[in-house]
Amino acid sequence: MKYIIVTGGVMSGLGKGITTASVGRNLKNNGYKITAIKIDPYINIDAGTMSPYQHGEVYVLKDGGEVDLDLGNYERFLDTELTREHNLTTGKIYQSVISKERRGDYLGKTVQIIPHITNEIKDRIRRIAAKSGADVCMIEVGGTVGDIESMPFLEAVRQMHREEEDNVTFIHVTLVPLDAQGDQKTKPTQHSVKELRQLGLYPDVIVARCKEPLLEGTRSKISLFCDVPTEAVVSAHDANDIYEVPLTLEKQGLTTYLMNKLGFSPKARDTAWSDMIKRMNNTKGEVKLVIVGKYTHLEDSYLSISESLKHAAIECGCNFTTTWVNSETFDNDPSLVNTLSGYDGILVPGGFGERGVEGKILAIQYAREHDIPYLGLCLGMQLSVIEFARNVVGLEGANSTEFDENTAYPVIDILPEQENVVDMGATMRLGDYEAILSIGSLAERIYGTTTIVERHRHRYEVNPNFIDRIESEGMIFSGKNHNRMEIAEIPENSFFFASQFHPEFRSRPGNPSPPFRSFMEAMLQRNKHR
Ligand code: GLN
Repeated sequence: MKYIIVTGGVMSGLGKGITTASVGRNLKNNGYKITAIKIDPYINIDAGTMSPYQHGEVYVLKDGGEVDLDLGNYERFLDTELTREHNLTTGKIYQSVISKERRGDYLGKTVQIIPHITNEIKDRIRRIAAKSGADVCMIEVGGTVGDIESMPFLEAVRQMHREEEDNVTFIHVTLVPLDAQGDQKTKPTQHSVKELRQLGLYPDVIVARCKEPLLEGTRSKISLFCDVPTEAVVSAHDANDIYEVPLTLEKQGLTTYLMNKLGFSPKARDTAWSDMIKRMNNTKGEVKLVIVGKYTHLEDSYLSISESLKHAAIECGCNFTTTWVNSETFDNDPSLVNTLSGYDGILVPGGFGERGVEGKILAIQYAREHDIPYLGLCLGMQLSVIEFARNVVGLEGANSTEFDENTAYPVIDILPEQENVVDMGATMRLGDYEAILSIGSLAERIYGTTTIVERHRHRYEVNPNFIDRIESEGMIFSGKNHNRMEIAEIPENSFFFASQFHPEFRSRPGNPSPPFRSFMEAMLQRNKHR
């Protein structure tokens, strides 16, 4: 097993995740099997309990792991499916060391960061990598070199390098800022490499984030001061789109450099990625989409949705613009909902908590009554059922018990088995579940099959006691998992599709999620006739 370890310096948010995913993709294009691990040095066991305000979207894996959004980037770039083990956190490591200590596994020894914590980290990395059957395991160490939290992880990878030198390669991602005169400055990079060296880690490759391509002079200066060959100093200048980053790195010879270092020779030439980029750069027209949600000022909170829309647009050959509207603006002034007429489609994403819910319901009502293409995801599905129950079936005050425990019409209610759970990590229905689609439904047409698997993250669901009344009025549940409603649609509308699951987690560049693709097509249709 070969390991490529990606660290970051100078500051966070430089795009280490995209670099990690891009390097992996380029190796995959040469016929190698790649897996990836994200190390998050925080003490939370997983991202499930974190607010999207803190770390962006909580990404959900097939096994129900609630993880950092970088795993979404790995899955999309590498076109693979990962499991919760691929996200290591300080919390997970300590939890397992402490329970081993309680079991007496350490035979009376003093349990310490070195070797017990570091061994736990190395064991896990090696076990996960081996289990994946990959040739290369990409490992991204979250945070910035020098952070107290990441020390045990950096020490563990240092030991791995000592133990199997030929198998471990280090990439350090840094920032090359511009000074007031617009000159590229290398000092922050020099300092962060120095910091890395103090920890016993020597970068093989330096990836420099910068606005414009690195100048030759900057490149050779970094090479000289940081002791890496010039061809191993790579410019990661701003790209039009993150999907272009693999090509930027490739063009500078990084893949060849790494392949030589790993002792690899090309086994295949997979052009799916570069073909997709060609399609991406050859789109025309523009549809206008509006997303009515809560964390609308933080696009990272809905990262997978943005990516899925992009995948759909690439394959539909069109461009799109997204307007983010905080649903509370409709709560405060319901007349503003009329502004939605100017869009080709309305999307209501997932969410938790009562804030802004009534505004989202108004937006859904507008979409239904004006036959504007509508895509509802998770909460966006539950609210479309509430809207329909209130305004079409006539169940006044219908609601979800999440927002009104005493509603006379609890059309959305808590999953029975989740009622008394106290562990915050276990209160939801998470990960892959099957849905059976009704023959002749929009759902079946969209997916082209009658059995699908999609990822979930919810605590509430459609209350089966109301299904008959709702269906008799024209909203049908065309996807089911036994008595769980997975998809709601309104056949009378041109495109009204809402799912309890989150299709955005399985969408891939070059292979868009079917509901997103059909939503994009419906928006194109409306755009043409508008
Ligand atoms: N709050 C809703 C539930 O728990 C919807 C969750 C979501 O949108 N992810 O079921």
